[in-house]
Amino acid sequence: MRDPILYPFYADIGSLPGVGPKVKPVLARLIGGETLLDLIFHLPVSWIDRRNRATIDSVQIGEVATVTGVVDKLDHARNKLPARVRLRDDTGFITLSYFHANKQWLERTFKIGESVIASGTVGEYQGARQMAHPDHVVPADGDADLPEVEPVYPMTANLTAKALRKFMAAALEKVPDLDEWIDPHLLARNHWPTFNQALLRLHQPKVYDPDGFHIARQRLAYDEALAREMAMGQARLARERRHAPAIPRALGAERSIVEALPFKPTRAQLDAYSDVAIDMGRPIPMRRMIQGDVGSGKTLVAALAAAQVGAGGGITAFMSPTEVLARQQAEAVGRFLKPVGMRVAALTGRDKGATREKILDDVRAGKIQVLSGTQALYQSDVDLPDLALVVIDEQHRFGVTDRLKLTAKGQSPHMLVMSATPIPRTMALAVHGDLDISMIREKPANRQEVTTAAVPDTRIDEVIAAVSRAVDRGERAFWICPAVDSEDAGDASAIQRRDVLSSHVRAPVELVHARMPPPDRDTALERFRAGEAGVLVATTVIEVGIDVPEATIMVIEHAEKFGLAQLHQLRGRVGRGDKASSCLLLYQTPLTEGGKERLDILRKSTDGFEIAEADFRLRGPGDLLGLRQSGLPTFRVLDITQDTPLIETARTDAKSILMADPQLEGARGQAVRKARDLFAPRIASTLPETVED
Ligand code: ADP
Ligand code: MG
Repeated sequence: MRDPILYPFYADIGSLPGVGPKVKPVLARLIGGETLLDLIFHLPVSWIDRRNRATIDSVQIGEVATVTGVVDKLDHARNKLPARVRLRDDTGFITLSYFHANKQWLERTFKIGESVIASGTVGEYQGARQMAHPDHVVPADGDADLPEVEPVYPMTANLTAKALRKFMAAALEKVPDLDEWIDPHLLARNHWPTFNQALLRLHQPKVYDPDGFHIARQRLAYDEALAREMAMGQARLARERRHAPAIPRALGAERSIVEALPFKPTRAQLDAYSDVAIDMGRPIPMRRMIQGDVGSGKTLVAALAAAQVGAGGGITAFMSPTEVLARQQAEAVGRFLKPVGMRVAALTGRDKGATREKILDDVRAGKIQVLSGTQALYQSDVDLPDLALVVIDEQHRFGVTDRLKLTAKGQSPHMLVMSATPIPRTMALAVHGDLDISMIREKPANRQEVTTAAVPDTRIDEVIAAVSRAVDRGERAFWICPAVDSEDAGDASAIQRRDVLSSHVRAPVELVHARMPPPDRDTALERFRAGEAGVLVATTVIEVGIDVPEATIMVIEHAEKFGLAQLHQLRGRVGRGDKASSCLLLYQTPLTEGGKERLDILRKSTDGFEIAEADFRLRGPGDLLGLRQSGLPTFRVLDITQDTPLIETARTDAKSILMADPQLEGARGQAVRKARDLFAPRIASTLPETVED
């Protein structure tokens, strides 16, 4: 239950004066929500210092300046020319220009011979200084009406900065006084203002103080970090109070599986499994994430976990994002578990009627130990009383509800999630701190390095010829296009490219894209996997999981348009067998400096963690879209790529708060609870366990 003192934060922006049915959707889209909380966390990106009072001859083009001058001349708009107002002082002239200005307003505001203050960005027109649409014009004695320091917000069309400032002021008035939740020493050490002061300093600054703005923002970022750490810490405590069946490690089964492998498992794989085995051996529900780059062999770890569960008489549900992946994983896990006589079945949306019944009967009868499927696994008629382990593959493709619905199928199953989004450890903790994390940083020893080259698309004919020769040698190639049809990608559309390649390559060329019906997609993929097709043209639907060891070439068109992490995932589809593989990044010329730098990183590194770090560095702060694409949650203020020290402090703080007062009943606990609840809606949508007091 939320404390009523927080209710004003959740009031609808429509309740603010001036936010009517027309304005509301515009404002809501800008601030990404409909509550006052969303509004007050729409923070300025910079501030304008209007104390820069200058004589007219000293203002610089490109600067924001505030000048006082006498109205010398007023020309109304005509022949597509704007209305022009000339101001003069002792040093010179400057022109203010207005397109589509109201005539009466102009005459009222600018009376010849009277003095005004104008503030805005100085530009140039035909060699003379001018201010186009000044931000403010006030009578010379109206100095008090002019904000000295003005916040600059990310803006949208159909909403003026002035209107936004007005709404913000109205919202800030509604913000209640809250007890301080930050430790007093920490507050003092960082010179942090209170929560309310921080908001006021950012939105309605009295003085221009860049350091002060930074400090205020840090305080709010810390609040968000602390809220998240509290929620994660409490989720963890709640879990540790719950009971789950302790499943003993099955050393015999483990040995049989490992001995039958056609390869030697890496140390990292065995260590990761060992973490899992220990977790499941305890009578509380496991929540572990295996983080490992593409091709690091996460499936084997999951298979060993499933064997431990199977040996104890339990069932494992293994969820993948697509039917193809679910079937591929059923096959892979089935192969790993064969030596111990355990069986794996695929269960997807396409298995209906009698087939489906048979599979479920076999599960109930204990003939099948692992069910590999899609979301179909948690449909209502699936009954899994002995469900002891839930494995979520490619976790970033699933929402929290998917995980909850699947775990709800059992009494209190253990959960293992697998992620191929390699992020630095501090970031991983900030995002997944409610989970225990095992990292696989080592690649299987037999892996061929993938040679990566960036090639201008003017040389596409050579690339087609190379693909064609490789197919003649019995190898297979992926060809990734940025879009399905030519409206979006011209020649580089998947459909066109398939046609071109078909006429050059002496083997069938298959096509998969997101707009095809899933069964057709599966058929095409299957034909490529089985070797009946030599080339698979695809959009990025192919990105996750697909394992075709015979594929040796990955061509990516318009590579400059993809994110680094995504390119790395795509490249991870080749180099899985024993043949040398290559990845060709086709780019459109001319390539920007940034584009070149990004492709260079891929050429030089095949380490997913290294690439992820470079990616975050190059994107810089505030690239929320990029974060979302990597499956990472976004925050209101906190920037997990930059604010790691804040996050670490918050973690320590949250731990000690929970240690001293696990129920958050003391004065500090009560205060912290409000911070947590303030940010809770966003946090809850990214944590598998919800917090309830
Ligand atoms: P990912 O971590 O991307 O899910 P997979 O589990 O699909 O990787 O493994 C990729 C491929 O590598 C599979 O064909 C798998 O059988 C194989 N593999 C797994 N572990 C090893 C190993 N230690 N040595 C060699 N090959 C391995
Ligand atoms: Mg995988």
